[in-house]
Amino acid sequence: MLSEFDIIRCYFSRPAPGAVLGVGDDAALIKPARGMEVAVSTDMLVAGRHFFADADPRKLGYKSLAVNLSDMAAMGARPRWATLSLALPEPMVRTDEKWLEAFADGFFGLAHAHQVDLVGGDTTCGPLTISVTILGEVAKGKALRRSGARPGDDIWISGHLGDAALALAHEQRRIVLEPGEIMECLPALHTPAARVGLGQRLIGLAASAIDISDGLLADLGHILKCSKVAAVVKMGDIRCSASMKRHLPQPLAIECLLAGGDDYELCFTAPRARRKTIETLSLEQEIPLTRIGRIREGGGLVVLDAAGNTITLETKGYDHFHV
Ligand code: ADP
Ligand code: MG
Repeated sequence: MLSEFDIIRCYFSRPAPGAVLGVGDDAALIKPARGMEVAVSTDMLVAGRHFFADADPRKLGYKSLAVNLSDMAAMGARPRWATLSLALPEPMVRTDEKWLEAFADGFFGLAHAHQVDLVGGDTTCGPLTISVTILGEVAKGKALRRSGARPGDDIWISGHLGDAALALAHEQRRIVLEPGEIMECLPALHTPAARVGLGQRLIGLAASAIDISDGLLADLGHILKCSKVAAVVKMGDIRCSASMKRHLPQPLAIECLLAGGDDYELCFTAPRARRKTIETLSLEQEIPLTRIGRIREGGGLVVLDAAGNTITLETKGYDHFHV
């Protein structure tokens, strides 16, 4: 059976050219470039809570980093270093080296694509849990925050929303998707694209930003709270896939679109005067950027349907302590 040290050496020790010192000592050493500050964020994935225990390990490796890259994107930071903490069930370590190999493959594939170095972590025995900490660089004082939205700002989202939640609802047998719909929605659930390049380009353009991990309503809600403003959103302006369109306006589809979570798109606000620049950025980055509403004075979030009626939802978004 592999020891803790075998696991680290075989699967998680790779050169870290962007660090002063990588895996192998009591701590890694990193040095941000001059004029930059360090953005740090952690996300934990727990088997049975965030993923099925028998999930494809390669996709799991990918996603455990992707969700963290998405947090860097939301701050406008360039991701540079990561640590990885793993709790692995003993039977898995004893019998399933393929799992570790595939997991590492998925993780490092995405890390390499973003020039992120794995510089440390922790490995222990326990119920399957994956915790990644990411560190990135952002120019001093320039990071995008949740607190910058101002009345009159447009509200924008990248990409389209709801497919990951639709795919999950299908896997939980709460909805039945056709084979073509599964093909369209499943990648959003298992291999989300973190909007890392876009996030960095939004510095100086966006007034506030957040990544949509717990559903649009919940995450836009965080911007509103932190910025002490209100918002009106038109549901019909939210970009969605052909599969989603086919299931709207079923209540479950509306819930997936507005409160589903796992989208890993960016929601940001920007003054009206930035519209042209943001539209050009959308073409340049080849990522749809869509205006879905407006920031107002006051508090609270109103979502309108095509007829101008207010939509009310039972759930506002994913909350790990109320499910
Ligand atoms: P310590 O006992 O000082 O905490 P460990 O024996 O836990 O050190 O880890 C040895 C080295 O391996 C450290 O540099 C640590 O950061 C790294 N490491 C441990 N687990 C992982 C992992 N899953 N991925 C990457 N690096 C890891
Ligand atoms: Mg340790």
